[in-house]
Amino acid sequence: MSIPGHIPSWYSATAHPAPDHPQLRGAERADVVVLGGGITGLSTAIELAERGYSVIVLEGERVGWGASGRSGGQAIFGYGCDMSKIEAQLGRDDARKLFDWSVEGVELIAERCRKYAIDCDWRPGHAHAAIKPRQIDELKRWQDDLAGNYGYTGTELWDRARLQRDLATERYRALLFDPRSGHLHPLNYTLGLARAAQALGVRIFEGSRVESVVEGAELVFRAAHGEARGRFGVLAGNAWLSGVMPKLEAKIMPVGTYICASAPLGAQRANALIRNHMAVADINFVLDYFRLSRDHRMLFGGRVSYSKLDPPGLRARMKSRMIDVFPQLGDVAVDHVWGGYVDISMNRAPHWGRIGSNLYFAQGFSGHGIAATGLAGRVIAESIHGQSARLDIYQRIRHVDFPGGRLMRTPALVLAMLWFRIKDLRP
Ligand SMILES: Cc1cc2nc3c(=O)[nH]c(=O)nc-3n(C[C@H](O)[C@H](O)[C@H](O)COP(=O)(O)OP(=O)(O)OC[C@H]3O[C@@H](n4cnc5c(N)ncnc54)[C@H](O)[C@@H]3O)c2cc1C
Repeated sequence: MSIPGHIPSWYSATAHPAPDHPQLRGAERADVVVLGGGITGLSTAIELAERGYSVIVLEGERVGWGASGRSGGQAIFGYGCDMSKIEAQLGRDDARKLFDWSVEGVELIAERCRKYAIDCDWRPGHAHAAIKPRQIDELKRWQDDLAGNYGYTGTELWDRARLQRDLATERYRALLFDPRSGHLHPLNYTLGLARAAQALGVRIFEGSRVESVVEGAELVFRAAHGEARGRFGVLAGNAWLSGVMPKLEAKIMPVGTYICASAPLGAQRANALIRNHMAVADINFVLDYFRLSRDHRMLFGGRVSYSKLDPPGLRARMKSRMIDVFPQLGDVAVDHVWGGYVDISMNRAPHWGRIGSNLYFAQGFSGHGIAATGLAGRVIAESIHGQSARLDIYQRIRHVDFPGGRLMRTPALVLAMLWFRIKDLRP
C-alpha cells in the first residue's frame, strides 16, 4: 500500500500519516510564494516563517512527491562536484566557506529532527567505497584534502580487512568512513518538514501545478484554478519545473536514477550485512549506493537513464547490481523498485541564485541534495531577509546551458556519460 498521490515505493509504503493540503483556488497573497514541496521549498518556508514572513508553498502533486520523497536518503558533506571545481572558480577561501556550509547542511538535518520532532530514522555513519586499486589512492588523497584544506577531520580510511568487519562484501578494497554524514527516510523527513512548516503558519497547497510565473515588483504564480501573489518568490521545482522558467531549465538536465528494496531480511541477516548500519556509496561516476531500512531490508540504488522511460527489465537489473555487491542475497526477492530524476548541472556544482530582485531559485543538486537542499533553503531565506552574503558567493559559480537545447541535450549528455562510464571501467 502506498499513500495516495505518491509513486509506489518502499518509502510511500512506510510513510507516516500526513494531512491532505487543499488545492489553490482563487487569489491568495503572502510575503513569499514558494514553488515546490520538496526539501528545498519546505526548508525555505520554515526558515522564512521562523523569521516572521507569511509563506505559501505551491506543490504540483503532493508534498514529497519529487526527488525528496524517493531519494537514496544519504546525507553527505560537499556537493555533486569535487571541491576542486568550486575552488577553481571561487578561490580557496570561498570554496572553504562553501564546504563548511555543506557540513552545516548535514548538521541541519539532526537539528530539525530534534527541534520539530521529525521521526525519519536519521542515523549517522556513511562510507565512500573503492572498487578499483586506483580508487584506494583516490580515497587517500580525498581524506588528506578534506583534513588539510577543508579542516574536515574525523574520517577514517579502512582497508579491506577493517571494512569487512562491518560490511559483508568482497567487492570493495577500501572505505572512507565518515561518522558525521548519515542516512534517513527521505519521505518521512520531507513530510515532517511540511508538518513543521504548517505549525509555523505556512500555507501549503497540493495538486497546484504552477503554469507560469509573472515577474514584477509583485510576483504572480498562476495555477489552473487560482493564483498566488508575493513580494518574493522561490523556484524549488528541481527537475520537474518543465516550462515555467526555460532559462533556468536549460542549465540542468533531468537524469533518471533508481532504487530497489529487498524483501525483509530479518534483523539477524540484515545486521550481518552492514553491522554498523552505515550507508555506503561507491565512487564510480555511475555509482551504487545502499543501506539497511528500519524494517531490515536492503535499499539498493544505482543505474541511470537519460530517457523519460524507465529502462526495460529494471527489477532484474537492480537485483543483479545488488547481487554484485552481496551475492548472499541471491535468494531474496525484490519487493519495491522506483526511480526519479536528479537535476544535474553541466559542472555538477550547485546552481542557486536570484533572477531580478525578488525571484530566487535553487537547483543543480546533481544527485547530492539531501543535505544541500536544507542549506539552500536557509541561504535563500537569509537573502530574502536582507543578508545575501552567502547566496552572493554561490551566485558567483558560473553555469552554462546544456548544448543543443531541449531536444538535443539528451543525446549530448549520453555521449558525455558514455565517456565517464568508460573511465569507470579502468582498473
Ligand atoms: C532516486 C533518487 C535517489 C537519490 N539519492 C540521493 C542520495 O542518496 N543522497 C543525496 O544527497 N541526494 C540524492 N538524490 C537527490 C536528492 O533527492 C535531491 O537533490 C533533492 O531531494 C531535491 O530536493 P528538491 O526539494 O530541490 O526537489 P524535489 O524533491 O524534486 O521537489 C520539487 C517539487 O517541486 C514540484 N514542482 C515542480 N514543478 C512544479 C510546478 N510547476 N508547480 C508546482 N510544483 C512543482 C514537484 O512536484 C516536486 O514535488 C536522489 C534523487 C533521486 C531521484
